[in-house]
Amino acid sequence: MKEDYYEILGISKGASTAEIKKAYRKMAIKYHPDKNPDDPKAEEMFKKSAEAYEVLSNEDKRARYDRFGHQAFEGGGGFGGGGMNMDDIFSQFGDIFGGGFGGGGFSGFGGGFGGGRRRAKGSNLRIRVSLTLEEIANGAEKKIKVKRKVQAPGTTYKTCSTCNGTGQVTRVTNTILGRMQTASPCGTCSGSGQIIDQKPADADAQGLKMKEETVSIKIPAGVEEGMQLKVGGKGNDAPGDGVPGDLLVAIEEKEHPSLQREGDNLHYDLYISLSEAVLGTSKEIETVNGKVRIKIDEGVQSGKILRLRGKGIGNLNGYGKGDLLVHVNVWTPKTVNREQKDFFERMADDENFQPNPEKSDKSFFEKVKDMFS
Ligand SMILES: [Zn+2]
Repeated sequence: MKEDYYEILGISKGASTAEIKKAYRKMAIKYHPDKNPDDPKAEEMFKKSAEAYEVLSNEDKRARYDRFGHQAFEGGGGFGGGGMNMDDIFSQFGDIFGGGFGGGGFSGFGGGFGGGRRRAKGSNLRIRVSLTLEEIANGAEKKIKVKRKVQAPGTTYKTCSTCNGTGQVTRVTNTILGRMQTASPCGTCSGSGQIIDQKPADADAQGLKMKEETVSIKIPAGVEEGMQLKVGGKGNDAPGDGVPGDLLVAIEEKEHPSLQREGDNLHYDLYISLSEAVLGTSKEIETVNGKVRIKIDEGVQSGKILRLRGKGIGNLNGYGKGDLLVHVNVWTPKTVNREQKDFFERMADDENFQPNPEKSDKSFFEKVKDMFS
């Protein structure tokens, strides 16, 4: 279970943007890798707080987090992703420390961080996955074929001569405040410090080639059309010692022939005959976990809603399952034969056939109102 972002930063759910910023600033300074060399715990905290800040500082992401928790949004390492890498974290600092810290170098902060060499990140890939209601209800593991760029075997690298492998070029300028030294990522090697020495004929300029791979994607129960899952590290590879991008999976919902979804609940329209309504019956109902037989009491009214608890969709945040609501519709015959006509004509004035709703027989609209209150 992932820790709560608010708890990580030590703030309340109602914290203001300024409070969030302040809390993160404190954490970032306390756990900065320069101050805590070779301390994996500090690094962990450093990353965690950066991830928390990344989400909570963004109004949109924060709203989604408040609603869905750790799952179901891109960024912030929600889904199987490895969270943020150091580059993401440092590029965030421009915002937090008022500029000057963004980009490759981090030398203003207690002695430089790893000399400023950046590991390149491969580009993200986007795919769509179409799911049946059954898969959405119970969660699923999908094996999807993905074409991604991978490092071509046989590619070799050598140290970039422009930056001598540091990944940075420094420039000295004279200003009224004295000599200023500014560092920026090396353009020749994009800051990686290495360039390609040799590559096989089928590789592109970055030493990558296309490969079809089967990626296993875990879909949690309760996802919705339009949501995006992130599979960390299954995007395109980066050249050299860079890290691969992510695979972003957009969810699509397939229509179900007889079940309609509404949040975690499902609706099913059941049609029974006039005789079945009078005499009572039992009916097979389709659910997301096979068929179930339900009993219909004699004298059932059209419009009655039967609630099958827990036969709906699994909740995305793990709060149980929704219900299956069976709407009973009594089917009136459109034509009748002579004998049937006679029977109903005889019953026309029969007291037993007169509508006589009791308080417990709520109208259809009252029931719907109840359901959503
Ligand atoms: Zn270079």
